[in-house]
Amino acid sequence: MAIATINPTTGETLKTYEPLSDEALEDKIGRAAAAYRSYRRTPVEDRVRWLRAAADVLDADTDAVAELMTTEMGKTLSSAKAEVGKCAKALRYYAEHGPAMLEPQRLDADAVGAQQAYVTHQPLGVVLAVMPWNFPLWQAMRFAAPALMAGNVGLLKHASNVPQTALYLEELFRKAGFPDDVFQTLLIGSSTIERVIRDDRVVAATLTGSAPAGQSVASIAGDALKPTVLELGGSDPFIVMPSADLDAAAGVAVTSRNQNNGQSCISAKRFFVHRDVAEEFTRLFAEKIGALAVGDPMDEGTDVGPLATESGLADVEAYVEDARAKGAAVVVGGQRVDRPGWFYEPTLLSGITPEMDLYAEEVFGPVAALWTVDSLDEAIEIANSHPYGLGSNLWSEDDDERAQFVRDIESGMAFVNGMTTSYPELPFGGVKQSGYGRELTALGMREFMNAKTVWVG
Ligand code: NAP
Repeated sequence: MAIATINPTTGETLKTYEPLSDEALEDKIGRAAAAYRSYRRTPVEDRVRWLRAAADVLDADTDAVAELMTTEMGKTLSSAKAEVGKCAKALRYYAEHGPAMLEPQRLDADAVGAQQAYVTHQPLGVVLAVMPWNFPLWQAMRFAAPALMAGNVGLLKHASNVPQTALYLEELFRKAGFPDDVFQTLLIGSSTIERVIRDDRVVAATLTGSAPAGQSVASIAGDALKPTVLELGGSDPFIVMPSADLDAAAGVAVTSRNQNNGQSCISAKRFFVHRDVAEEFTRLFAEKIGALAVGDPMDEGTDVGPLATESGLADVEAYVEDARAKGAAVVVGGQRVDRPGWFYEPTLLSGITPEMDLYAEEVFGPVAALWTVDSLDEAIEIANSHPYGLGSNLWSEDDDERAQFVRDIESGMAFVNGMTTSYPELPFGGVKQSGYGRELTALGMREFMNAKTVWVG
């Protein structure tokens, strides 16, 4: 895949980049390793100050960086601005709470015959982050803010279609005053990742993206005995029971499925509705989907812009055609939009059966698949039959149903009567083929830290 900015609204190639040469890559890894030797010893107060400064830089750059993201991957400008704000919030979250996360944890010294016993969390070194284009700033920030707070050094291999946002990230940390080379962007293709992971100076890797990319990175890192965190795909279930507030549930269903032009890992993608309320919920859901404004993502009134890539559009079309051919009903939408760029109509399909490709895969576009079920048991059983287990949603006022859902749903996150969202204040991650490890909060920060046991006699 060429490293290039191609505007998905028009299909026009705006800027292309040569991948780093072997020498330039070697130089950058060397610089990262050198930066780590001193950065790991920087006072926590300095890191706090730089994190806060980075948040201020983001605030000041909001309009420019939001436009850049919209140009590179097509998210609406308003959602791009919100993404910048969320990144600033995450930086401030770690500035405020990071120092406490780094405090040693006292243990029972008497029990082990010591004067002191404790765990101290120390950074690991240079960490490679392989990131996707869908939230080009936020995905990278979810890694960068805790990593830099911890004293690690970051190398970012971003998706090839967001090179300018990737370069902005390097610039951001430099402008904020972080020491040179603690966060660098590598403009490289995915075939060069193996060379970086196998480099002795790189100690760990994190990847957010598709399951095949995760398999590749985890295999190489496993062979090199280096830890990884994987944030992979999702096909989140959204279960609606008879006691639910149907209008609120339908509203959140539409937002969840169509946010980011349908390209979010934690979008609700499979909707399981109890038979008693299926007709009414479907009517509300279809009505609200039909009311979405599809158009230029730079326009304020637009709800849904283009898909980020031409191949992404082709994938979505193929899933819908396959389902239609195998008997699914197209309740609303169901085709690409007749205009330049990579637009697809927000779509609702019902009558889903296991033969359809989308049954056990992930549709990365604005396509909702709806099942009518007779019980919560049935909804959870079908939901859990999917290989992914990222987020999940239940809409119910019934305490027993809520408890059953939280106990039995196979997912890393369970949201009741609200939209699955990533918050700096909550851990984020999945189970099964959605990956392993957690991002955000102290859990996320400690994924790439050495929990060193100290015994002092
Ligand atoms: P992708 O193709 O896997 O790309 C993600 C990153 O991995 C890019 O930097 C890409 O580089 C790189 N990559 C691609 N193939 C690779 C390989 N074989 N080995 C190593 N690296 C490789 O994913 P995407 O299409 O950009 O993103 C969509 C997927 O990401 C969806 O499945 C979505 O659910 C998932 N996602 C998950 C989360 C989460 O937190 N769980 C968040 C967002 C997205 P190139 O661009 O150079 O190919």
